[in-house]
Amino acid sequence: MSADFDGATILAEITQRLNAKARADLRALDKHPDELQSRLVFRCPVCGWRSSPAQADKFEVYGEGDHDVTYNHCGADFQVETQVTHIFISPAARTAPAPGGAR
Ligand SMILES: [Zn+2]
Repeated sequence: MSADFDGATILAEITQRLNAKARADLRALDKHPDELQSRLVFRCPVCGWRSSPAQADKFEVYGEGDHDVTYNHCGADFQVETQVTHIFISPAARTAPAPGGAR
């Protein structure tokens, strides 16, 4: 290790490079010609702008199925399909496991 090793500076440099790559990846999505599947955003097929349903004030898009959207960014009309996945999380067991293991 050199005397001028600075972990914080190196970490900041790595973070900056990763953020730049992430922004470049997102910009590439704007122009990608294929259908876009995302867990976070939908994309306007006209202007390429991406936003979450909440950012676009289109909360109905969170529901399962097809949604007609008039995008407030550019006024384009298009359809967004939403596929919902449910994950059911139950609370921890209230009693200790029975002696001898699970039954
Ligand atoms: Zn648009």
